[in-house]
Amino acid sequence: MANLPDEQFIEKVSDGVELTEPAHAPSDLKARVYSALMRRQAETGPLSSLTESKTQGHPLCVFERLVEIAPVGGPAKSLNICRVCHARVLAEHFENAPIYWDGCPYVQFKKS
Ligand SMILES: [Zn+2]
Repeated sequence: MANLPDEQFIEKVSDGVELTEPAHAPSDLKARVYSALMRRQAETGPLSSLTESKTQGHPLCVFERLVEIAPVGGPAKSLNICRVCHARVLAEHFENAPIYWDGCPYVQFKKS
């Protein structure tokens, strides 16, 4: 097969490949990747405020909603509140963690 042109080589190899359902990443892996990305994003500057996130159509976690209405300054409203959310801890350690509150990204990972 080493002397076959690329297209023929690919066809030959793909003949032996059995198509199956697309693989889904485990929810705990998605949670850890999301946490790492959020940490990196926060290192480069403030995150979008909760109000901006909501305006852009992203649902807020129950803990984010509490901070949104709390009498705290602007910087607190641009923190990754879900960093301290119980959902993060559970989602990073368990596949399909038993978390159910709306709006939290860690809960969303269970669904897809
Ligand atoms: Zn959350």
